[in-house]
Parts: sequence; C-alpha cells; structure tokens
Amino acid sequence: MAQELHPLLLRQLRRVGMDAQATDAVHAQLPALLERISRAYSDADQARYLLERSQEVASREMTQLYNDLKASQSRLASLVSLSSDWIWEQDTEQRFRYVSSHSGDTGSRLSLLLTGKQALVDLMAVGDDNAATYANSVVTRMPFRNVTLRALTSEGEALYLRISGEPVFEGEIFCGWRGVGSDVTQATVAEQQVVQLARYDELTGLPNRSTFIAQLELALNRARVKEQELALFFIDLDRFKTVNDSLGHAAGDSLLQVMAERLSGLMRDSDMVARLGGDEFVVLLDGGVDTHVLSNVARRMLSVLCEPLRLSGRPLQVSASIGIGLYPADGTDVASLLKSADTAMYLAKSRGKNNFQFFTADLAQRASCHFAMEGELRQAAERGELRLHYQPRYDLDQSVMCGMEALLRWQHPQRGLLGPGDFIELAEESGLIVPIGRWVLEEACRQIRRWRDSGLNPPRCSVNLSVRQFSHEPIVDEVRAALAQAGLTSDALEVEITESMLMADTERAQEVMNSLHQLGIGIAIDDFGTGYSSLAYLKRFPARTLKIDRSFVQGLPDDRDDAAITQAVIAMAHSLGMQVVAEGVETQAQLEFLRHHRCDEVQGYLLARPLPPESLANLLPACSQTADPQPGAMVV
Ligand code: C2E
Ligand code: MG
Ligand code: MG
Repeated sequence: MAQELHPLLLRQLRRVGMDAQATDAVHAQLPALLERISRAYSDADQARYLLERSQEVASREMTQLYNDLKASQSRLASLVSLSSDWIWEQDTEQRFRYVSSHSGDTGSRLSLLLTGKQALVDLMAVGDDNAATYANSVVTRMPFRNVTLRALTSEGEALYLRISGEPVFEGEIFCGWRGVGSDVTQATVAEQQVVQLARYDELTGLPNRSTFIAQLELALNRARVKEQELALFFIDLDRFKTVNDSLGHAAGDSLLQVMAERLSGLMRDSDMVARLGGDEFVVLLDGGVDTHVLSNVARRMLSVLCEPLRLSGRPLQVSASIGIGLYPADGTDVASLLKSADTAMYLAKSRGKNNFQFFTADLAQRASCHFAMEGELRQAAERGELRLHYQPRYDLDQSVMCGMEALLRWQHPQRGLLGPGDFIELAEESGLIVPIGRWVLEEACRQIRRWRDSGLNPPRCSVNLSVRQFSHEPIVDEVRAALAQAGLTSDALEVEITESMLMADTERAQEVMNSLHQLGIGIAIDDFGTGYSSLAYLKRFPARTLKIDRSFVQGLPDDRDDAAITQAVIAMAHSLGMQVVAEGVETQAQLEFLRHHRCDEVQGYLLARPLPPESLANLLPACSQTADPQPGAMVV
C-alpha cells in the first residue's frame, strides 16, 4: 500500500522543481528506499558491533599472549638460573659474545673470562677423539655435542667446560654459534686425579711401575718394527734406607722427590723417567746405544743426583748406583731387559756404589750370588758362621790398652772370612741386622765372660749398633738381658752409635741414650765428622766418647784441613767433657800428632788389627794384673 508523503517532504519536492508525476515516482520508490536505508543502518550497526567485538577479542588475546610470553620467559630465566648450564653465543670467529651468568656461581666467572676474550679455538679440546670431532664440526659448521674444552685463566687455573652447540644462520648467512655449556672442572679434575693415582706415583708424580711397564712394552714393539735399539737405566739410591731410618720417612720422601726432579730435569721429553718403587728409578732412552754416549748420560745422572741438598734443615749428599741394559743385546722383552739392568745395578753397588755398570753376561751369575747371599746370611747365625773380632783401643797417656771394639765377621763356607763391608748393608736392607745385632751384643758379653772365667781382665768392650736396632723398641731390654745372661755389670759394655743415627728421631735417640746411660752403659759417637751434626748438637746426648772418623786421621799430620778439624774436634770435645778416640791410626806420625794435640785414645792398624778372641787374649792383663799395663801395653 502506497504511503502518504509527508506534507513537508511534498513541499520540499515541489520546491526543487519536481512535478507531481516525479513526486509520485519518488513516492512509489519510497518504501524500497526506506527499506534500503533501514538495512544500511542495520549493516552499519552490525559492522560496528563486529568491529567492537573483534577489538575486544584482539585486545584480550594480546593480553593473554603477552602474559603467556612473560610467564614463559620468567620460567626460562628461572630454569637457566637454576640449572648449572649456561647459554652462550659466539661470533663467526668463535669468540664468545654472550655467556649467561648466574650470580654467585661459576657462570659469572665464566662470563667474565670468556665473553669477547678468547676464540674457542684457543681453548683446548680434551681427549684426542673429542678434539677431532669438535674440530670437524667447526669446519663443517655442524652441530656438536658434549665437547670438553680446557680453558686457562690468567692465573693459570684450568677450567673444564663441556659445551654443545649449533651454527646460527640468518637465511644463507652464517652468523656464529649458539649453545649450552656447563662447568665440569670439579668432575674432570676428580677424574684426572683417579687416573693420576692409577698411573703415576703419588710422591714424585712420575709414571709408576705399571705405567712404565706398559710404555716399555710399546717402546719394545716400536723398536722391533723399526729395528731400533733402546737403553734402559736402572737407578738405585745408595744407603737410602739409612737416610730413611736416620732422618725419618718425611725426609726420605723429600729426598725421593728431589731425586725424581733432578732426573726428570736431566732427560729429554722423549725419554721416559719412572719410579718403580722405593728408591728405584728407571729411565728409558730410545734410539742409539752408543756406549760412549750412554756412559756420559750415566755420569751426568750420577753427578746431578750427588749434588748436595738440605733435608730437614741439614745438609746431605747421596749417591746412586746405575745399571744399564740394552735392547736387543741384553733382553728382548720387558722382563728380561728390566732384569739385565737391575743385575747391572747390583754390580755397580757391589763395586763401591756411586758408579754405573753395563750388563754383561757373567753378571747374571754374580747377581744370583747376591740373592743367594741374603739367604745364606739368614742362616749364618744359626750355622755358627758369624764371628766377632776385637780391636784394641789404647790410652795415649798411659800407653795401655784401655778398651776394645767388637767387629763383626762372617766366616763364609766358600768365600772365606768376610768383613762388614761385604754384608752389613745387605743385613740392613733385609732387616737381618736386628737379629744379627742382638747376636753381636750377646756374643760380646759371652766372650767377656769367657775371658774373665779364664782369669783375664778385659777392658770395656764397645759394640756397634745399627740404626735399625736403635729404632727397634726393646734395644735397652736386649742390652740389659745380654749383660745379665753373662753375669756382667754395665761397665763392661759401651755402645757405638753413628752421628746420623742421632739425627734421625732426636726424641727417640735421646730416650734410648738416656736409658742406656742410666743403666751405666758407656756411649760413644762413632765416625764423627761423616755426619752433619755439630758438637753443640751432641751436647744434649749423654755420650762420653767421640770417635774421630778414619778419613780425618788419614790426612794427618800434613793435610792442613784434616789437622785443623782434628785439633778443633779434640778441643771442643774436651770442653764438653768428652773423651776423644782417633780411629784408623796407621802411622807413627799420625800417632805423634794426636798425642801432641791431647787426643785421649787411639785405635788402628799401627797398634793392632781387629783380632779373633784367642789372639786378643794374649793382649789382656790377668785379673791380678789390673794395675800392670803389661801385656796389653802399647808397643809403639
Ligand atoms: P767402625 O765402627 O768405624 O769400625 C772401625 C773400622 O775401621 C773397622 O772396619 C776396622 O777394622 C777398621 N780399622 C781399624 N783400624 C784401621 C786402620 O788403621 N786402617 C784402616 N784402613 N781401617 C781400620 P770393619 O771391621 O771392616 O768394620 C767396618 C764398619 O762396619 C764398622 O766401622 C762399623 O760401622 C760396621 N760394623 C762392624 N761390626 C758391626 C756390628 O757388629 N754391628 C754393626 N751394626 N755394625 C758393625
Ligand atoms: Mg765402630
Ligand atoms: Mg768408626
């Protein structure tokens, strides 16, 4: 139905010149127009509504997204800070550009250390496989996993870093590396310590026996293939046991460390120096076995090992014996080569120590003698092969025999009468000196008893104690028992103790000496001048006799040093209230010098050699003749 036009609209249409017909046309279209207008309104409303809605959603989603992002970032940050791993970025030159740091842990140290400072290639990948894999990844720009690197701080401290990383590309362009890492220093160091303990000697840091044997095996294989020769030096310190026993184990350890350093310092990097155990070292030289060259090497070794050193504040000088075995001449496998060098070393020792010796065929025979000898010495006391000889001591004032020293001999079934020089060290090394020393004490007391029982009046007899006996707990009881068994009083006996024994364990030495002194046993310091003690040091011990070593007496009266030392020792010993005995007097001139300088007693070949008891008996006064110097009077 046609809608009536509003009069105002009608008037307006007319004013713009529309006639009634046109006005009717408008009129006719009006509903449709209105319809369209109303639809347009409705569309606009809807659009506005949609716009508003979409803005609302967008803003809500953005907020949500933002919140999510923030949460995830903080989660990541807290994870990073909680984990021991750090995140790193490097430039194309592998310089660290960024290292995440966590305050208070190694991260911050690492970030300071690494950022921008060092190209990764300057760091060392640890382990051959590791290094190769890593180097390959860097060149090919491929990801790498768990590569351990070692970085040195400016203080020289080693840090171990385990990193995994991947290359970063923007489009086609390579921009550097990115990855994670962790500080594995503690674990790596602990691991290295375990390896170190298993392969190296803890005391000296040198390869230990098993490592050396493995290396020797490899060296022998190489030498076999390349038809090369090898030289094995077997080095054993002389009298190490005495140093150990007399200066204590800590000093012994320090000595081994110094010797190890000296040996390593002497050798080239390609030579292998190892400690087999105890005071035994080995050096393996590959290439060339020219005897002249090897002899020079051995001489150089001896000379560096002999250099004086100070241990526990005291000066000391040690020597070594070296045996040299050659591949292939003296052994083609580990065991035989080691044995040859060891055998040669034994020969060097038996030839007076401080020398070297090449292995020769007849050595094996001699070495087996050495081992056999230890077994024989073990049985010597039971078989009654040990003897004591007695060397008189003379009083220079009254020219009478005023004492004697019991000196050990071994009546060997095949080799004849052996002196202590032939077996005492073996006895010390094997510990046999303790039972042998006990036998010496008992036998000296028994002999005094025999002489007395046969109507003779022997003077005080001195007995040498070894350092092993001295540190052996019941020594004082043993002395007491030996005297008691023979029915002797303590004035029958004197003990001789070397200087170095006193310096060992001063407290123990003082304790033992005080006990012996309280028993009434005389104490003499033997071989004075060969140790390193001063007279002032000796003052604290209750020794009443000082024996000047033969080496000083030898040079008298012409050697000015020996003369000056002897004079000074006599004067100072007297000022401390000690008696002085000069050992090893062989000439009349020595005797006169000593008499002139008021030495109290002398002992030496000039007056009497050590004698078997039956010969010494001829020099002893009878019980009733104690006041009469005959027949023990000095005959010079
Ligand atoms: P020592 O205690 O200094 O004994 C003196 C050594 O000098 C003895 O050597 C003696 O024979 C030697 N001698 C004495 N006068 C002369 C001389 O005029 N010229 C020369 N060239 N030598 C002379 P021996 O008997 O060979 O003993 C050597 C060392 O063995 C002794 O030195 C002592 O340290 C040790 N010894 C001897 N018997 C025993 C013992 O029963 N127990 C222990 N632990 N050691 C002993
Ligand atoms: Mg002596
Ligand atoms: Mg002596």
